[in-house]
Amino acid sequence: MPETAIWWVRHDLRLHDNPTLAAASEADHLLAVYCFDPAAYGNQPYGGSDDFTFQKTGSHRAQFHREAVDDLRASLRERGSDLLVRHGDPATEIAAVVDAVDADRLHAQRLPAPEEVATEGAVREAVGDDVAVETHWTHTLYHPDDLPSPPAEIQDTYTPFRKAVEADSDVRPTVETPSLPPLPESAPEAGSIPTLADLDSSLSPPEPDDHAGLGFEGGETAGKARLQHYLWEADRLREYKETRNGLRGADFSSKLSAWLAAGCLSPRHIAAEVGRYETERVANDSTYWLVFELLWRDFFQFQVAKYGGQYFAKGGLQERDGLDWRDPDDEPAANTAFDQWCAGETGIPFVDAAMRELNATGYQSNRARQNAASFLANDLGIDWRRGAAYFETQLVDYDPCSNYGNWAYIAGVGNDSRDRAFNILWQADRYDPDAAYVTHWLPELAGLPARYAHAPWTMSDAEQSEYGVELGSDYPEPTVRLEIPDDVFDE
Ligand SMILES: Cc1cc2nc3c(=O)[nH]c(=O)nc-3n(C[C@H](O)[C@H](O)[C@H](O)COP(=O)(O)OP(=O)(O)OC[C@H]3O[C@@H](n4cnc5c(N)ncnc54)[C@H](O)[C@@H]3O)c2cc1C
Repeated sequence: MPETAIWWVRHDLRLHDNPTLAAASEADHLLAVYCFDPAAYGNQPYGGSDDFTFQKTGSHRAQFHREAVDDLRASLRERGSDLLVRHGDPATEIAAVVDAVDADRLHAQRLPAPEEVATEGAVREAVGDDVAVETHWTHTLYHPDDLPSPPAEIQDTYTPFRKAVEADSDVRPTVETPSLPPLPESAPEAGSIPTLADLDSSLSPPEPDDHAGLGFEGGETAGKARLQHYLWEADRLREYKETRNGLRGADFSSKLSAWLAAGCLSPRHIAAEVGRYETERVANDSTYWLVFELLWRDFFQFQVAKYGGQYFAKGGLQERDGLDWRDPDDEPAANTAFDQWCAGETGIPFVDAAMRELNATGYQSNRARQNAASFLANDLGIDWRRGAAYFETQLVDYDPCSNYGNWAYIAGVGNDSRDRAFNILWQADRYDPDAAYVTHWLPELAGLPARYAHAPWTMSDAEQSEYGVELGSDYPEPTVRLEIPDDVFDE
């Protein structure tokens, strides 16, 4: 009997190095389907203790995903196949497609975060026992089966994990894009890609922002073009380790995160390209460091596989439940401070620039993320999950493991027992000595010397008049009066 397979596309919106597609293409007929899940849009509960609601997906990521689906559909059509697009509960929608073509087998990506695991479980149940379901782990550099120990037993700190993996594990070779079997004869109608307003009536297309370092266009085609640009055309990988803490511009870091998160790029393909660059151009600390960062990404994926829902809990994997976080739902002052942080109106320019960049573009550099997160959790003392959930809404590259893993780490409830609080003004002086980043996003501070652009509250009334920046009117008074460390802002 000829076999009909369904490829349920999840965060693997690509044809290259896709083991799920390769396995599904062994069937006689193949149909790909992507489902926009209403639970990933609009206001949704966080869940767990001290629950709150938040907007799951903002316009930057929603638009990126629409583009990525459109791009995959175009690539499949070029090859004589198609991508069905559905908008509804994945269990219902996938089961309906399985029924419509009388599929024998369902192939899908396996993901570690609790919501993704629950969705997989619901789909398995809905398609029933007559359909063989095969899941494939395809989004990390290393495959979990190749780790020195299973994810449930991996180390909780990065360095020993990395050393063990580098010593004992190998990255599997990338998988060729298969030739695609024909569509089933009874393939249902392809369906249209929902608009932003269909996904969430409060969403509208993001305005392009000319302050942005890079516009992020969703899809495998744009992701591959970005990789080609960063490595081969701009030739910036050779200096990545020195530039990666940058704040402004297109090429200080790879900017591959959004395509990785949606699965438009495979990390193994990136590592293979880094290997080729090392052979054809240069191998140095910088070329190694990009792979080192991809291993950080893996680490958080495997940590979530190990800890599940506990990873997202207020006390984190360390179950530090005694910490006294301020709750914006219970305390009006905390609510105001949280809103100011979200809007980039805290009166601390380094934090405000980061938040205005996030809101305008869906992206922040790693350095900006660390400082914005640390300020919320460690200086304002607000429940770190609220900040992480706000990042979930806004980030174009949101990934549950990387986002909540990094947040928990900085809030002191994650994979490190050390105090990870950042001294914001020290950081501002070190990474933005000329205040170029701060004044890029806060043009109202552009006329100030760097010291005052970073700490405008230290200006006297006379200086405010001299520079034409009145605190409380042109720019907010600070929410928190941060101490200026002795050794910073020395001219
Ligand atoms: C509070 C906070 C929240 C974050 N949320 C996310 C998120 O939701 N999604 C996300 O992809 N990254 C997240 N990061 C990690 C990191 O900031 C971004 O991956 C990086 O800034 C993306 O830019 P890039 O692609 O140019 O990175 P590069 O510096 O070029 O790094 C290359 C790749 O390595 C991976 N990587 C680098 N740093 C980290 C890290 N610290 N943790 C995990 N992976 C890393 C990313 O996939 C990145 O694309 C977060 C960091 C912090 C501090």
